[in-house]
Amino acid sequence: MTGIYPVLEKAREGQRITPTDALELFRSNDLPAIGAAAHAVRLRKHPDPVATYIIERNINYSNICAADCDFCGFYAKWGDAERAYVLPQEEIDLKVEETIALGGHQILLQGGLHPQFKLDWYEQMLSHLKTKYGIHLHAFSPPEIHWFAKINRMTLTDVLRRLAAAGLDSLPGGGGEILVDRVRRAITRNKALTEEWLDVMRAAAEVGMRSTATMMFGHIETLEERVEHLLRVRELQDDTGVLTAFIDWTYQQSPELPLQCETSGSFDYLKTTAIARIFLDNIDNIQSSWVTQGGKVGQLSLIHGCNDMGSTMIEENVVSAVGTTFTMNAGEIERLVREAGMEPRRRNFFYDDTDKPRRTTLEGSNDAPAPVAGAAQQASAP
Ligand code: SF4
Repeated sequence: MTGIYPVLEKAREGQRITPTDALELFRSNDLPAIGAAAHAVRLRKHPDPVATYIIERNINYSNICAADCDFCGFYAKWGDAERAYVLPQEEIDLKVEETIALGGHQILLQGGLHPQFKLDWYEQMLSHLKTKYGIHLHAFSPPEIHWFAKINRMTLTDVLRRLAAAGLDSLPGGGGEILVDRVRRAITRNKALTEEWLDVMRAAAEVGMRSTATMMFGHIETLEERVEHLLRVRELQDDTGVLTAFIDWTYQQSPELPLQCETSGSFDYLKTTAIARIFLDNIDNIQSSWVTQGGKVGQLSLIHGCNDMGSTMIEENVVSAVGTTFTMNAGEIERLVREAGMEPRRRNFFYDDTDKPRRTTLEGSNDAPAPVAGAAQQASAP
């Protein structure tokens, strides 16, 4: 056997593939073979014909940001009277109440890197939400936590312990982009570099908090740098076990954004996701990125390594600023999963089942149209 087949055979047999193997897969266009091997690996980890999803709302509490990312159409500078905002607590409460009414299990809170707010501002927001609603709070990606530590002159673990005491349950793994400093320095400024992003994850593990890892690809990175990103994530997981899931998506370009480059389509998305499933043998869950790819590709991702459809988009503020965004309610996600020959199942952050999937419009408000988003943005999260 030559080419990619020995590599795929290794993966099927449960052996770890090397970075050189992964690069070989990236250089191949044999998507059917790579996808089939990724699906076999997925079935070894998750033998039941099930695809999970979560009902969650992404609340962007503020868009004010001291960083400057060339792929972000969301942020505004402090003092930008036209665009900058901080959501009032009452508005955040209303969004949480809508989410709970829709059967939501989790609130995702992310914002920019605010140049003024001290840690107690975030503690107050968390403790208010936890006390009032008791819902799982999944908040602040590594660049935000790194920023909080920097402007409060605190250690990462002290920041995380204080936020956890205020109600923080888990960290989203956003802002990973590509974990290679050449790429990060080229497309971001004043934002956590690779080791700083990883340090937040190590600190999260130290205080007993779990997170996820992301990758935004299809811009200026080389294939070698994609492999390096996956390697850093795999090493992090070997060292800490902090990650519950991995989510990759393609850069969504628009004419207004400074980052203009050749971007990736669905073929590259499916291939990269399948390679991630094969390479990241220590991460149980791979989420589909149907928000950037659409429901049909999201459905296909379920036979290219993904076992999870991510979250319903009650509110999507992350990709929509550049016009490429898809929304689906619970009923649509469940239909796509069933069409792929699997059973949909709702989960919480830890991938525990939450309740049985509901099949008809009797599920009521989960089939209601998504409320209007509060803000529009393109960001891989801060
Ligand atoms: S991606 Fe995040 S850190 Fe970068 S400019 Fe946008 S909000 Fe700020």
